[in-house]
Amino acid sequence: MYRRAPTQAKPKAWYQRDGGGRLAQDRERIAAAFPGLSYQIDEQAGRVFLEGTITLVAECGISTPIQARVEFPDDYPEHESRVYDAAQRFPYEADRHFYPDGRCCLWLPPESRWNAKDPDGLCRFLEEVAVFLDQQLTYEAVGKGRWPGRQRSHGDTGYVEFVLELLGGEQRLLDALAPTLANRSGVQRNSPCPCGSGMKYKRCHLRAVEEISRKVGLVKLYAIFGRWCTNAATDTK
Ligand SMILES: [Zn+2]
Repeated sequence: MYRRAPTQAKPKAWYQRDGGGRLAQDRERIAAAFPGLSYQIDEQAGRVFLEGTITLVAECGISTPIQARVEFPDDYPEHESRVYDAAQRFPYEADRHFYPDGRCCLWLPPESRWNAKDPDGLCRFLEEVAVFLDQQLTYEAVGKGRWPGRQRSHGDTGYVEFVLELLGGEQRLLDALAPTLANRSGVQRNSPCPCGSGMKYKRCHLRAVEEISRKVGLVKLYAIFGRWCTNAATDTK
């Protein structure tokens, strides 16, 4: 096992920074909004968890407690926490939007509703988790194998759907811009736009492509559309 040299000072865990202000603030809000959850601090590991129940209340008044475990990343609050179905209440199937380890798949990362700057962000995030868990109950009650509400496909397809939506749902436009999204078209600012409008790229879809790049992240975007272009090329052969 790797051991830190004893002379080296241990870096502060996120909950110790700024005098522990963020943790204190979150704790107070969680106690009011989610009284079934309580904080557990593992000083040794420098990690914080929220454990307990999130209670879902149906319109008819019946309440269902769900055991949950919330893990905070080391760079919290910059990045969102991970939420687990702690008592294995649900089957961990991809169609149910669970990872095999019981982690809730709440959304596609670029569509995350986590807001690091909102002081009430954790409560809002957990409200989204409650909606997700409520959808699980609906899914069971309806029993038709259809996810209630909006969902994304898994893997690359989910990202392609997201990009298509940003392009106003125009498949033709997505096809035309895909090589540019994969960074394979070599289009320059003053080149004709790949969409075929006859306008210069910088006056046409440059901004749309920049927005997509910002939301998805370049590494992810190049990888996904690189594969997408390769598949499209083999399909037409
Ligand atoms: Zn264009």
